[in-house]
Amino acid sequence: FITASGDCRAFTEQSAQDNALAALDLATPIVPYIKGRQVLIVTNDLIAPLYLKGLQERLAQAGFDVRACVLPDGEQFKNQDSINAIYDALMQAHFARDCTLVALGGGVIGDMTGFAAASFMRGVNFIQVPTTLLAQVDSSVGGKTGINHALGKNMIGAFWQPVAVLADMATFATLPPREFAAGMAEVIKYALIMDAEFLAWLENHADKILAKDGETLAQMVHRCCDYKAQIVAADERESGKRALLNFGHTFGHVIETHQGYGAWLHGEAVAAGMVQALVMSYKLGLISLDDVRRVVALIERFELPVQPPKIAVDEALSLMGHDKKVQQGKIRLVLLRALGDAFVTADFDMAILNEVLTSVS
Ligand code: NAD
Ligand code: ZN
Repeated sequence: FITASGDCRAFTEQSAQDNALAALDLATPIVPYIKGRQVLIVTNDLIAPLYLKGLQERLAQAGFDVRACVLPDGEQFKNQDSINAIYDALMQAHFARDCTLVALGGGVIGDMTGFAAASFMRGVNFIQVPTTLLAQVDSSVGGKTGINHALGKNMIGAFWQPVAVLADMATFATLPPREFAAGMAEVIKYALIMDAEFLAWLENHADKILAKDGETLAQMVHRCCDYKAQIVAADERESGKRALLNFGHTFGHVIETHQGYGAWLHGEAVAAGMVQALVMSYKLGLISLDDVRRVVALIERFELPVQPPKIAVDEALSLMGHDKKVQQGKIRLVLLRALGDAFVTADFDMAILNEVLTSVS
């Protein structure tokens, strides 16, 4: 469920922010979903000073035995050491099978907490409180959890569903603008692959979204969760639909790896990658140049990059060849038949892909 409980506009004064954070109640909505009395909140050292105390105190007042596991912030800590730190906290406090793990943070914390919940005592109750836009619209829905291995991202994991996801728009008050924009790339992605009407809605509500209007953001997040849930549910029967979520990601992956992970945020690389996928769709005669321009304007409005850095075509192709989305040596791309209508194909003229990878404007 999605709430706009607080005013999520960026605060100019520290005291105003402190008061708003103290008033924010992330506990009451999740209480009905807590199993047992023992609760472990997993978060990181950046989010803890902002949101941990309020959540922990309220849950303690509600009668739970609440512990916290505060991990270092960052994708580089999405590893087995962090999972072990979660297990240590659970074991040292004698947690039983009848306990609940709460993920308080972005996708990194959500993925790790979910994996720890999936594996501790062969699976315990798990609640997500995503605090980034990306986590609210993407990683907290669908049940994929896991960690990175030194030799590959997200290589160790499990499917484990949270019993509840609480997305509170008030948490955007403290989210860095660049992280918010990166989440918007995934939001725009849903519109492009699923629903042209939502694309128009985003255009019409861009001002309110940028002004962090709580009600508008809640509607937007809600719609994205619905789209992702639709895709994930469909994929259980007809395999392959989930691949549509990779729109812009094969091109984006090239940018991310070429620049070194972290230089571009994932959402930024996806934004520029989506433009490449749009240009490719245009060059294949599927969509119009006006369609491309329209989406570029929207992406720019949210202060996201629309151009990839200069990368040699050979290098880009080889990076695509290493992409896990590739099957039997063929490059598979998600393209658009029209705005709001995506499909997966490995059947296209390589010369056109070359052109797209060459032209940076
Ligand atoms: P993140 O979790 O690293 O969060 C980004 C940064 O924002 C971090 O520094 C974080 O501490 C900080 N932050 C989070 N909330 C904040 C807030 N409210 N105020 C201030 N700072 C805040 O990154 P992310 O973009 O949320 O998630 C990326 C991760 O999600 C990746 O590891 C990726 O693999 C994973 N992911 C998983 C799925 C899935 O289906 N499970 C889908 C997409 C992405
Ligand atoms: Zn993504």
